[in-house]
Amino acid sequence: MQIRSVALFLKSFWRAAALCAGTVLCSFCICAQSAPRNGSDPSDLILVNGKIITGDARDSIAEAVAIHDGKIAGIGSNEEIRKRAPQGARVIDLHGRAATPGLIDTHCHFDETDALYALELSKIKSVAEAVDLVRQKVAGARPGEWIQGAGWDEGKISDHRYITAADLDKVSPDNPVWLTHTTGHYGVANSYALRLAKISRDTKDPAAGTIDRSADGSPTGVLKETAMTPVRSLIPEFTKEQQRNGLLKMMADFNAEGMTAAKDPGTEGIRWDLYRELLNENKSTVRIFALLYGGRDLDSARVTLARLQAQPKPPQSFGDGMLLSGGVKLFMDGSGGGRTAWVYDPWFKTPAQLDGNNTGYPNIDPPIYRQMVKLFHDAGVHVSTHAVGDRAIDWVVDTYSDLLKQTPTKHLRHGIIHCNIPTDHAIDTMARLQRDYDSGYPETQAPFMWWIGDIYAASFGEKREQRLMPYKTYTQKGIIWAGGSDYFVTPFPARYGLWSSIARQTPSGKQPFGTAESVDIHTALKSYTIWAAHQLFLEDRIGSLEPGKDADIAVWDRDPYSVPTDAIKDMHCELTLLRGKVVFDASATKSR
Ligand SMILES: [Zn+2]
Repeated sequence: MQIRSVALFLKSFWRAAALCAGTVLCSFCICAQSAPRNGSDPSDLILVNGKIITGDARDSIAEAVAIHDGKIAGIGSNEEIRKRAPQGARVIDLHGRAATPGLIDTHCHFDETDALYALELSKIKSVAEAVDLVRQKVAGARPGEWIQGAGWDEGKISDHRYITAADLDKVSPDNPVWLTHTTGHYGVANSYALRLAKISRDTKDPAAGTIDRSADGSPTGVLKETAMTPVRSLIPEFTKEQQRNGLLKMMADFNAEGMTAAKDPGTEGIRWDLYRELLNENKSTVRIFALLYGGRDLDSARVTLARLQAQPKPPQSFGDGMLLSGGVKLFMDGSGGGRTAWVYDPWFKTPAQLDGNNTGYPNIDPPIYRQMVKLFHDAGVHVSTHAVGDRAIDWVVDTYSDLLKQTPTKHLRHGIIHCNIPTDHAIDTMARLQRDYDSGYPETQAPFMWWIGDIYAASFGEKREQRLMPYKTYTQKGIIWAGGSDYFVTPFPARYGLWSSIARQTPSGKQPFGTAESVDIHTALKSYTIWAAHQLFLEDRIGSLEPGKDADIAVWDRDPYSVPTDAIKDMHCELTLLRGKVVFDASATKSR
């Protein structure tokens, strides 16, 4: 930024230019600042002595940033910014620390109600540990009360197998149990729960679902995709109070990771109303771009469309860019870990053993899917479709392409959620759709390669692995993508995604996906900032630190541009601002 433009910009924001800077506070704790004096507004704030990674088009770095009324008033050198700060403006000395735009997660099931009220199974190391946690929970429950948990992953437990009903029956004969897998695409029920759901040896697999069975045909308790519905529909919902607490915890935990915005792909039930409620009460500290599930047929699509049409379309928002009714989410297929995603060549059970001729399956009858998307597209509604397998991705991008040809509406930014193993055809199609229609964007999760990387590597097999999340190829083709976590599939801190985009490493430290598709930190950061903002229709407001944009800023204990790759994974956030307001302060947390 040129000195002159900083000056002009600041002049328009700040009437009286004062020569001396305000009170400098040495730590990040800024609770004790002086009261605003003449010429300053209580919101006036400057950050100085930093390495401010602006994320602008030139990826420029600045020393200082000035904030007025929640917006960035200027960016430049310490001298430029200090000189024009109004007397009494609060000053935060960054002591050389790096700051980035607030990080954005474009696919996050934004809810920690489970973390608060259900069993947390992501850290268990064996089946026995899970069983023991269930035993403890049963001890405090009434007979018949549901026991719920989530987060287990057979790839991370020493037994290297699914948890089964037989494991759980030993400790929960009188309570139904349901434990969701980390991918959310399957889970395990105990025999009590199977009985309640009327699932027995005689039950046939439903359309787009799998009842896992032992050799004699009896259910093992593991249910995949739509086969989960009979059990899940019996579990009572968390109360409104519990769900509200889950959202508030999620917002606080996001802020503690330097994160300020999310695309939530499932705002069913009372979630949307809760978002409105928190916003009205001034308790929202994360921007939310909400999608509504469109179901599996035309009837459900019509119901969803009616609900969406009652809300303003993006980029229109509630709370001045805080909450958007974004559009619809559809599922084209299932999961890579569960081997239910729709692929051309059969899945692998182990790296050396094919899973029979299992090529997964579509979640929606493909021609029906196309009609559903047409309904939304023709109504000018943004669509994001879950597609993991190569065959599913082809079907989704071809659908978008055909419909855009028929009705060439630009800027709907239709997304491909996950987009794990796109074919060359899909890659070329996305490049063309982005260029011609501002549509066809991968909303992808680099941390899959880490958190569920070992089961992923086994299922995809050697030939397909290298094509997983081909970021480098995207950059060569001019494709931009948006990063995310798919929490609770992987932990949500965006630093894991930044690191994974570069390292492509599994929990066991292997690199089965190769590094030919790795990108550098500059590119990875874009996918969690400005490119992510674009997928939230908020790129004019957030995603980079430039004058006129909202001051969503994260301050870090290290500079992601210069530390070794592995150190990115362990970055600590020290301060988070949302529209210039402190929503997280590590020093305040520590001193508490
Ligand atoms: Zn998801």
